Amino acid sequence: MSDIKIYNTLSRTIEDFIPIKKGVTGIYSCGPTVYHYAHIGNLRAYIYADILRRTLVYDGLEVKHLINITDVGHLTDDGNDGEDKLEKGAIREGKTAYEVAEFYTKAFLDDLEKLNIPQKEYIFPRATDHINEQIEIIKELEEKGYTYKINDGIYFDTSKFKSYGKMAKLDIEGLKSGARVTENKEKRNITDFALWKFSKADEKRQMEWNSPWGKGFPGWHIECSAMSIKYLGKHFDIHTGGIDHIPVHHTNEIAQSESATGEKFVNYWMHINFLNEKDGKMSKSTGDFLRLQTLIDKKINPLSFRYYILTTHYRKEVNFSFESLNAADEAYKKLLNFCIGKNNNLPAGRHDGNVSVKYKKDFNDVIFYDLNTAEAIAVIWKMLKDDQIKDEDKYSTLMEMDSVLGLDLANAKKEEIVLTEKIKELIHKREVARNEKNWALSDEIRNEIRNLGFDVKDTENGQEIVLNGNL
Ligand code: AMP
Ligand code: ZN
Repeated sequence: MSDIKIYNTLSRTIEDFIPIKKGVTGIYSCGPTVYHYAHIGNLRAYIYADILRRTLVYDGLEVKHLINITDVGHLTDDGNDGEDKLEKGAIREGKTAYEVAEFYTKAFLDDLEKLNIPQKEYIFPRATDHINEQIEIIKELEEKGYTYKINDGIYFDTSKFKSYGKMAKLDIEGLKSGARVTENKEKRNITDFALWKFSKADEKRQMEWNSPWGKGFPGWHIECSAMSIKYLGKHFDIHTGGIDHIPVHHTNEIAQSESATGEKFVNYWMHINFLNEKDGKMSKSTGDFLRLQTLIDKKINPLSFRYYILTTHYRKEVNFSFESLNAADEAYKKLLNFCIGKNNNLPAGRHDGNVSVKYKKDFNDVIFYDLNTAEAIAVIWKMLKDDQIKDEDKYSTLMEMDSVLGLDLANAKKEEIVLTEKIKELIHKREVARNEKNWALSDEIRNEIRNLGFDVKDTENGQEIVLNGNL
């Protein structure tokens, strides 16, 4: 038993989280396809994977967490057909598919580090390093009679897995009637999917391997079954991914894993909703998307982005806008300002306050209830504005809460007052107003700055900015 409740896509209800065994809790998070940079929607999925891990650790559990790197065989239509995304990336960039994968894997890991998702807490297995394990599962499925061979590969016969599509509540008849004309006519069922695809006779692929069925490459879904089972066992605790994975990828993972092992695959499935741009879903394949570096170029701290993501519950959609991101940036910097010394009156060794029992309980109540980070942040602000709590106690409570939220508040630097772009702009406007001797405007701006948490002193050397403790 744990204190945590999570929404399980399998049952569509909030359930008590009960780990399979005392000791290590296993989590598998579907990772990125490394043919391009991660976009900020993808990163939302990993920020929440990290919140999940931290919450379990905060509750006293030990966690083994995998994020796989899909560096092979992921086709452009996310199904069985289309071009290979990595080979396409290789053509686009004039590199080999392996170089493309290596480059974007590193870029992904760098993004995680910037978002305070510490690499050392995770295992990042790569699909290309686990081809044998994938072949072994396909062999197992073949022996048990779940597979068949057609012109372009070895397929999984979904009609043989009785509960196929249960989690996704798939409407198989509906899928049949909506099938595209391009669908592979040789497939026995519309939902059947490739386990192993053959290299075409007239084509030399960059990524291909020998197998009992001939030269080719694995289907996309099989890597996640092979790697999760290898590192976490046939039956493990939690599997995460974006909501787009429910109807196909995770449905197929369940079918092939449970058919191969004869055991239940995963106890809890957690799905993170989408981050959309104004004109809809953010997509990597178009190449036109926002990535973390785009935000950094606009002087947004990556951890302000993390804060922004945490202000919406993971099961709700986020409609991204720079206005709301900037508001989050300001709020986050207010938190940093608090940590470096509101009114500069926090004692030097600021770790020795007492954790507020009341606010810790309020925080636990919401974070343990399906990771409600939005409410958890509301608890933080309520506490910071509570005059009954001493500053050093607020600080110590905040540090404990931040072990879950991962906003890296402990490393806020005392020597720098963290000014938002907005405040910098106001200071500049006030400078101009003063030079023009427009005192009315200058005072108006001073008030605006005061409401944002800073006092302005006019000195011989110009404006001096000090914290005033307005939160
Ligand atoms: P991919 O690299 O496309 O395999 O996606 C990596 C992860 O990001 C998967 O868990 C996806 O479900 C998730 N994902 C993809 N697009 C979005 C989006 N717009 N918002 C949130 N998560 C997404
Ligand atoms: Zn996966």
